[in-house]
Amino acid sequence: MSKIIAVANQKGGVGKTTTAINIAASLAATKRRVLLVDFDPQGNATMGSGINKNELQSSVYDVLLGRKTMAEVLIEETPAGYALLPGNADLTAAEIELMNVPNREQQLKSILEHASNFQYILIDCPPSLSLLTVNALVAAHSVLIPIQCEYYALEGLTSLLETIEQIRSNLNAGLRVEGLLRTMYDPRNNLAIEVSEQLTTHFNDQVFNTAIPRNVRLAEAPSHGLPIIKYDKLSRGALAYLALAGEMLCRERASAIR
Ligand code: ATP
Ligand code: MG
Repeated sequence: MSKIIAVANQKGGVGKTTTAINIAASLAATKRRVLLVDFDPQGNATMGSGINKNELQSSVYDVLLGRKTMAEVLIEETPAGYALLPGNADLTAAEIELMNVPNREQQLKSILEHASNFQYILIDCPPSLSLLTVNALVAAHSVLIPIQCEYYALEGLTSLLETIEQIRSNLNAGLRVEGLLRTMYDPRNNLAIEVSEQLTTHFNDQVFNTAIPRNVRLAEAPSHGLPIIKYDKLSRGALAYLALAGEMLCRERASAIR
């Protein structure tokens, strides 16, 4: 069975897509079968995986609305090293078109039931608590929350955690928090240290030990359509995402033993 992880935070620009791409690539580098679902109309995860969102014949949107099968849309091999269910601006229409579909929150979940040959499925969510994000949270076993350690970071987190709680009580009782990930972290910045301390005080071991540093190579990689381990594998960003994937696998093993 696949483990499905939604990468979500309704705050924009906190590193969701960078995290989804680079965890997918890091897990794929360990020979695990990985699928990345681009569930954001911006299509950044598609572009960052080396696939031109403007040249797609079809996208996850068509599968969502039953117009194409998963097999027809799936890109088995991307330059990034994992499989991709691509997304683009068409997804904007999905929000509206899904409104009249019965069980509209369950559509992604039923699609991903046809993807059980993958060990890990990562879903890159849009920066909103929209129907798309709700679909991702209903489909997922866990949610990974990237957080940029700045002043308003915790405020947004509260409404995300409330949404997760609602989804647990109505639609997906098993949804867990995979972890809170500090992104673009700069340990020389006092505010970053302060917010990081608040996070660990409130959420203890839900905060990953690994923090992702601010690293210009991470920002450059998507314009080459490559994950960081293929763009500059010795950069601090690459080492951090590999460490994060390692930490996730260790936690998974520890919880399987318990
Ligand atoms: P959106 O909410 O718009 O989908 P997002 O949460 O997916 O945004 P990203 O697109 O991953 O965020 O990152 C926002 C910007 O910051 C991008 O330009 C990205 O390249 C850059 N970035 C992300 N992480 C880092 C990092 N650790 N160091 C430097 N730049 C980063
Ligand atoms: Mg994004």
